[in-house]
Amino acid sequence: MGTLITSVISGDVPQAVTTEVCGLLRSLEERLTVNGPPSARIKSQVNAINECSGITAVTADSEVYRIVRKAVTASREYRNSFNALIGPVVKSWGIGFDSPRLPSDAEISELLTLTDPFEVELNDEASTVKLLKKGMQLDLGAIAKGYAADLAAKVYNNHGVNQGLIDLGGNVLAMGGSDRAADGLWRIGIQSPFKPRGTSLGTLALRDCSAVTSGIYERSFEKDGKHYHHMINPATGYPFETDIASVTVIAATSTIADLWTTILQSGGLAQSHYKAENESGIEAVFVTKERLVLPTSGIRDVFTHTDNDYKLISHP
Ligand code: ADP
Ligand code: MG
Repeated sequence: MGTLITSVISGDVPQAVTTEVCGLLRSLEERLTVNGPPSARIKSQVNAINECSGITAVTADSEVYRIVRKAVTASREYRNSFNALIGPVVKSWGIGFDSPRLPSDAEISELLTLTDPFEVELNDEASTVKLLKKGMQLDLGAIAKGYAADLAAKVYNNHGVNQGLIDLGGNVLAMGGSDRAADGLWRIGIQSPFKPRGTSLGTLALRDCSAVTSGIYERSFEKDGKHYHHMINPATGYPFETDIASVTVIAATSTIADLWTTILQSGGLAQSHYKAENESGIEAVFVTKERLVLPTSGIRDVFTHTDNDYKLISHP
């Protein structure tokens, strides 16, 4: 998944459980990836779905089918901000890979015709997926880590491990509470978008939920003085134009939190803050390029601001 994964568990965990969690994460990556050389994609069911676009339906196992179904359904609902069918456009930009490039307007508009989330056939009984047009490509990059964190937590829970912190590179899942603090809450740092990895600008005190951060600072490239990042606006095919540098979403599951980091990256601070305030089960901390920090009202009390290079505000 192109990231460092850590998990902190209270007490002793049998080695077999750790092995099972690591095995699950590796196998999920193998089954979901659409990147790397053919040898890396050989076991990828998502890659098989893409290769068979416009040709035939592909059977997915239940774990893969469930995440594909979620991604496609969410894409239909949030099409102009989250669209997992954005694959062909993401590939042509190549941001985050060896040779990112600026595609032409003509190429982008051509590729956008291959991104309609309604041109996907999902068959719940047979657990099959068919992309109706040749060249369509699913990209689960925006929710795969969240889903992986949720499944990892399930493995721990199945073995009676109900307390811990799973961190898949900024995708944090807090299982239960923490016995490291008197209040029983985990302290989760929010990465400072403009400082080295591991530097936080504040902390959230949470339990039994997930906090996922996504920022346009993470993977990007510059051409002719212009900055291009890896979150693509499905409506235009170009990176989102936004004053938000990063957003952290808090939700009951990591899949939902991960999904919403992408949804809230579109549209700018005022609009995204409004969306987050009005969506039940979603809280967020926005950090703008101007170094303003804005938590939604539901988590203001559990957010501690620690870096004075950033200014805490209470409305956009
Ligand atoms: P990361 O944690 O790697 O930053 P994100 O959750 O922010 O991941 O998702 C970014 C990835 O999602 C991109 O690398 C790309 O593969 C895919 N993607 C980019 N734009 C969109 C979009 N609008 N909707 C869905 N997926 C997207
Ligand atoms: Mg995301």
